[in-house]
Amino acid sequence: MKIKWFESFPENPTNPARTDMQNGVIEINRQAYNLLPSHTKQFVIHHEMGHFVLKTLDECKADDYALSQMALKTKYSLRNHIDSVYLLARDDVKRKYHALMSVLTVMANLGDKEAIKLLQNR
Ligand SMILES: [Zn+2]
Repeated sequence: MKIKWFESFPENPTNPARTDMQNGVIEINRQAYNLLPSHTKQFVIHHEMGHFVLKTLDECKADDYALSQMALKTKYSLRNHIDSVYLLARDDVKRKYHALMSVLTVMANLGDKEAIKLLQNR
């Protein structure tokens, strides 16, 4: 994975990163990226890799890729996933809802009874 640093993205100053879909180079907007908590910085890198690996522009699919790479690797990985998506998705309610469902699915697959119940009653 190759990373190219930019001081800012003048056309999209709040976007922390983007991917060149031709070659998979992740371009980082230093000004926005540096404001993020460290777990969200990691999330952003995995999310961008997801766009390239899955050859998709779909934000939810890139989020799920990041979750698949990061879930259960650290103590608060599932909570951090939700926090990161909520921080980055801003007013994209569909994307936030998708992240909640994805995390609930991970928990249900681990046998969490509350998560199973919530998914069944959806
Ligand atoms: Zn994205």
